[in-house]
Amino acid sequence: MKTIGLLGGMSWESTETYYRLINEETARVRGGLHSAPIAMVSVDFQAVEALQRVGDWDRAATLLAAKARQIESAGADMLLICTNTMHKVADEVSAAIDIPLLHIADATARAVLAAGAETVGLLGTRYTMEQDFYIGRLREHGLSVVVPTEADREIVNRVIFEELCLGETRDDSRAHYLRIVDELASRGAEAVIEGCTEIGMLIKQQHTAVPLFDTTAIHARAAVSEALADN
Ligand code: GLU
Repeated sequence: MKTIGLLGGMSWESTETYYRLINEETARVRGGLHSAPIAMVSVDFQAVEALQRVGDWDRAATLLAAKARQIESAGADMLLICTNTMHKVADEVSAAIDIPLLHIADATARAVLAAGAETVGLLGTRYTMEQDFYIGRLREHGLSVVVPTEADREIVNRVIFEELCLGETRDDSRAHYLRIVDELASRGAEAVIEGCTEIGMLIKQQHTAVPLFDTTAIHARAAVSEALADN
């Protein structure tokens, strides 16, 4: 099995989920005491979030590219950036290394299309919901994307940074999210992408009849499948 490289810490709450899901999937497929070979570097999210807030994506790219090189040096055969938002600098990170980068939006789009949906709602940080790096990537796969209203994007973004990235899951925030999921479905979304790696902590498929696509789970499974591809 190949070694999976994880660029984590954004936030560590979801990196913990990646680590567990990758090992659970590896054990499910391989059985016995098998677990996944992983090389991980975890950043200080406070520094990354500060760069996001001031729009200094160049410095963020330089920072993540340096971490990606460390992960490659540690023996990783592929790299996952364990956040949707920081795929804003995926091209710069990918250019800094010689191992393949498994893009979270590509893995997600493939999972959505395989399930037969074409129009999706998108929840994530305001960067992910408002900028082209993510929505454009989904569109390249042929998906149509519906995002929440401006007021609702504000709620979704605030809950991510002020609650979920701190490990807090609140019932009132879950209710907001479920109302927004319903609103996206009423505007034509056949499914909703949980396009932030912490959202799966708050809303799960059991909470709604609208099909949910959890990017953390999809990305983690895609990594295991890639890592086992030559076995
Ligand atoms: N983990 C989140 C995401 O998937 C947000 C944290 C970040 O801004 O990187 O977008």
